[in-house]
Amino acid sequence: MNSNETHFCTVCHSTMKPKKKYKGSFATEIVVWLVCLLLAPFTFGISLLIAIFFSASRQFSKSLVCSVCDSLNIVPKGSPAARSYLDKTNLSTN
Ligand SMILES: [Zn+2]
Repeated sequence: MNSNETHFCTVCHSTMKPKKKYKGSFATEIVVWLVCLLLAPFTFGISLLIAIFFSASRQFSKSLVCSVCDSLNIVPKGSPAARSYLDKTNLSTN
């Protein structure tokens, strides 16, 4: 078993290395930055703070998802939930 596979998906029942997924789109962030840069001279830079805050909130809102099916319903492989699933399917966690 690959040691990189740290999480277990309770939806597609696969062990995998989860992906990081950001909430909101990158395109939205670009638009926010462009608008805030354009408005910066008129708002004495306050709009830049808004853009920085927007980017920061996106960084903090990232979540781990299943790399197979994009589900948020993943648990660490060693957790009791994962073990009970793996026991049902007769797979060993080691
Ligand atoms: Zn999955």
